[in-house]
Amino acid sequence: MPRYDYRCRTCGATFELNRPMSQANAPTVCPTGHDDVVKLMSMVAVTGTAGAGGAAPQAGGGGGCCGGGCCG
Ligand SMILES: [Zn+2]
Repeated sequence: MPRYDYRCRTCGATFELNRPMSQANAPTVCPTGHDDVVKLMSMVAVTGTAGAGGAAPQAGGGGGCCGGGCCG
């Protein structure tokens, strides 16, 4: 379940909630009970955090050799 960050504009408290995406923009209250709460943008992205390794494919290639006739 994604986690969202919220900020109370009344007392300035920030807090986190785990809630379904369908409830992400639903009204909530801060821990102190104020209801003037805004959702912060956070970097919650992936559901199923199973070891985010760094295996990003490298962009690039399309280069080099076969453009210049050295592949023959
Ligand atoms: Zn508050």
